[in-house]
Amino acid sequence: MKDCLFCKIANKEIESDIVFESDKVMVFKDVSPVAPVHLLVIPKKHISSIMEIDKMDGPEIEGMMKTIVSMASDLGLEKDGFRIVTNIGDNGGQSVGHLHFHILGKRKFVWPPG
Ligand code: 5GP
Ligand code: ZN
Repeated sequence: MKDCLFCKIANKEIESDIVFESDKVMVFKDVSPVAPVHLLVIPKKHISSIMEIDKMDGPEIEGMMKTIVSMASDLGLEKDGFRIVTNIGDNGGQSVGHLHFHILGKRKFVWPPG
């Protein structure tokens, strides 16, 4: 989508530190990490948040979720635990209107979140 930051990252119009890429999914490092591991997992196709998940088909959803799991697994996050976050809208703290999952790890996180 025009003027969408993460579409531009997916299309490589804007540079990012890419960790993994398939035809449908991209994983890159957050530019302002809040944990020693802070990755963003996005569908390359524009979807504004998880509330538009109906725009993805079953295999696309499966591929995205399995990418999150394999990233976390490859990074060895499971043993100590980690967090997967997707923010929605203003109250959720979403600042980029393109579906993304934060993978946060290698430190302790508090609950409830701020
Ligand atoms: P949100 O606040 O929408 O849940 O998460 C958006 C995330 O995107 C933030 O953690 C922010 O640091 C990250 N971000 C914003 N702009 C860029 C960028 O240009 N490149 C990268 N790699 N991350 C970005
Ligand atoms: Zn987009």
